[in-house]
Amino acid sequence: QALVNEFARLGEPMPQIKARIAFNENPHGLSPKAKDAILKAVESGNRYAMFEGQELKKLIADKEGVKPENIMLSAGSSELLTAMAVYFTGSAAKGGGGTVLTSQFTYDDLLGCAKKFGAKIDAVPLTKEYRFDLAAMKGKVGPDTKLVYICNPNNPTGTIVPAAELVAFCKEVSAKVPVFIDEAYIDFLEPKDRPALPKLVAEGYNLFLTRTFSKIHGFAGLRLGYAIGPEKFLESLQDYSRGEWNPSVTTLKAGIASYQDEEWQNFCRTENTKASNLLYKGLKDKGYDYVPSYANFVLFPIRMKTKQFEKEMFSNGILTSTREYNNQPFCRVSIGTVDEMGLFMDVFKKIV
Ligand code: PLP
Repeated sequence: QALVNEFARLGEPMPQIKARIAFNENPHGLSPKAKDAILKAVESGNRYAMFEGQELKKLIADKEGVKPENIMLSAGSSELLTAMAVYFTGSAAKGGGGTVLTSQFTYDDLLGCAKKFGAKIDAVPLTKEYRFDLAAMKGKVGPDTKLVYICNPNNPTGTIVPAAELVAFCKEVSAKVPVFIDEAYIDFLEPKDRPALPKLVAEGYNLFLTRTFSKIHGFAGLRLGYAIGPEKFLESLQDYSRGEWNPSVTTLKAGIASYQDEEWQNFCRTENTKASNLLYKGLKDKGYDYVPSYANFVLFPIRMKTKQFEKEMFSNGILTSTREYNNQPFCRVSIGTVDEMGLFMDVFKKIV
């Protein structure tokens, strides 16, 4: 957005965007079954959703081994992240403020909101493999800790913590403080590689997960997400967000269709791997390192200032994103189609 504003301010002609690979969107679009469901749902757009949410929650609950009461739907997971921040750090009745324990270089929606409510953020450095340092985090849990926030796979690094390590961490730490795992990108892992965290929720641990349809399901514009957590907690969370009532009938019907379309999810996962491999090869050939990713974006160090890199890419029709960590500039490029990654590499080679 800043780039678009900058071009408008300077009165420069807006470049034609050939590859939009900045926001970790799904470049393949919706499942054909979801599209069909949307067309059929047009007639019910005048109504609030009533039974559709229950139907979707039942599907998710059956697959994850929890009860429908352990699930709360939302219009994208962002609103759940901010509702969690308000719930744990914003309420004067519960003491407010406190500390959110997390890692450096992670997704900051929840953290930014918690800061606005006076919370301190204790951000532990990443390991040298760009992973959350769970051992170091464990040692930092204290009386002031209101919440632990972990993003797995992590945005912007694309790394994961080994499943068994994460499960052990959640069991131990959630006995002391609430633990929240943001699993926005979990669908990019093969089902057998996903940590069995919903099972811990079913067993009564003080653990919360969020997921989104924005990524593998391609619903970034339709807006659908959900939390998995203790039933009593999710009831209270409704006071901080109209979550459950927010997704439209159209979106829910499409979500029900997409959730069951495993063929489409497998297709998107496979294409994501193909396009990532192409990018890895291109970067390696050019002598650039990268952080191997378990999501639909890849982080790699660049040898140019972030703003300049973004602007030069944008001028050549590539919309991508950059970050800094420990004074090192990085590009975090979303994985587009194979063709889009080819375009990205062509422009990259031209500008560096
Ligand atoms: N969590 C992470 C780690 C994300 O990267 C994003 C979006 O990119 C979100 C949550 C929120 O996504 P949405 O509100 O579309 O579900």
